Amino acid sequence: MTESLDFSTRAIHAGDEFNLAPGVVPPIHQSSTFKLASAREGAEFGHTINPDRFYTRLGNPTTRQLEAVLASLECGEAALAFASGMGAISAAIFATLGAGDHAVLGQALYATTTEVARTLFPRYGIEASFVDATDSEAVRGALRANTRLILVETPTNPDLRLVDLDAIARIGRERGITTMVDSTFASPYNQNPIRHGFDLVLHSMTKYLGGHSDLTAGAVIGKKPLVEGCWKYLKLFGACLSPFEAWLLLRGIKTLSVRVERQNSTALELARFLANHRGVERVHYPGLADHPGHALAKRQMRGFGGMVAFELKGGVPAGIRMAESVRLVTLAVSLGGTESLITHPASMIQGNLPEEALRAAGVSPGLMRLSVGLEAPRDLIADLEQAIAQAIG
Ligand code: PLP
Repeated sequence: MTESLDFSTRAIHAGDEFNLAPGVVPPIHQSSTFKLASAREGAEFGHTINPDRFYTRLGNPTTRQLEAVLASLECGEAALAFASGMGAISAAIFATLGAGDHAVLGQALYATTTEVARTLFPRYGIEASFVDATDSEAVRGALRANTRLILVETPTNPDLRLVDLDAIARIGRERGITTMVDSTFASPYNQNPIRHGFDLVLHSMTKYLGGHSDLTAGAVIGKKPLVEGCWKYLKLFGACLSPFEAWLLLRGIKTLSVRVERQNSTALELARFLANHRGVERVHYPGLADHPGHALAKRQMRGFGGMVAFELKGGVPAGIRMAESVRLVTLAVSLGGTESLITHPASMIQGNLPEEALRAAGVSPGLMRLSVGLEAPRDLIADLEQAIAQAIG
């Protein structure tokens, strides 16, 4: 679908050409296999990349429609949907790297992505360097002759630092290295890294794209040959999205722009409230003027996002108390849904890491991570107010 149409229009109408049935809403092709016209057609499909009506692990018409929407929203040539964000991320990594290769990875990646590099790379003869990707020159400095991949995340998890998309894409282009970014925290509404020159964009669609905390899914979007390379790993590892989940995503994406706009504005309001609270040491939100990446955020993001991180006075005990004192906000991992969620990373998500690794990953003892939902801002503020009062006494 033409990129001249506004994002919100594309979120509703991209993929309409797949809607051959009379319903305004597309059917779900909830079928694992498809009737073949002839043995010859079967043989042809068996050699096609991502055939859309042969066998659902290899491709499916509902999933194909979703992939058309994703490619349109991220301004990519092609897209591939997976059963989870990690399915997409692992496929993209292993489609790019082989024995003897080296990768430069941001040191503040989603913890399970880091685990892939730390635990699986050595078994396959792949080397990795972890650098502070908010410093583009550190990324350049870590390159070796055998570097084949630069993988970053922006905004970073959990403390919302920003990586310069233009600068990293330029480094990759100059050196012929594939660049990938996990853009889950931003969602395609707030950020389109392909427009900044990135080769592949990765999403956990479990988050904003699904938007309702009722499915797990992932996506790889970008240059067609690279996306097709990922398809081989989808086929071999079998992390295929179910047609029903693909349909739920098509449904959820129609409201992506209104949901994320509201989450952006509520998050800014909450960030301002927290910044003025006596129990809060520091707020990390790219929309605040004192955030180190504020100017960069204005340059590369449409909105500042629905994630807010803040450091409570009182360290780990205060963080645990706050996490257990919220009433309207829910204590739960994940993000991007209609309901606001909170976590205390030092004790929960990164609980097994040593203090030094926690610091490098941006996790201070009192850090709280809030995923802002669609509740009324004043109700959220009242809940945070009472929970902070209980936390810091
Ligand atoms: N990337 C980021 C930034 C995430 O937050 C997550 C999950 O929390 C993932 C990737 C993994 O996605 P999934 O849980 O859908 O496999």
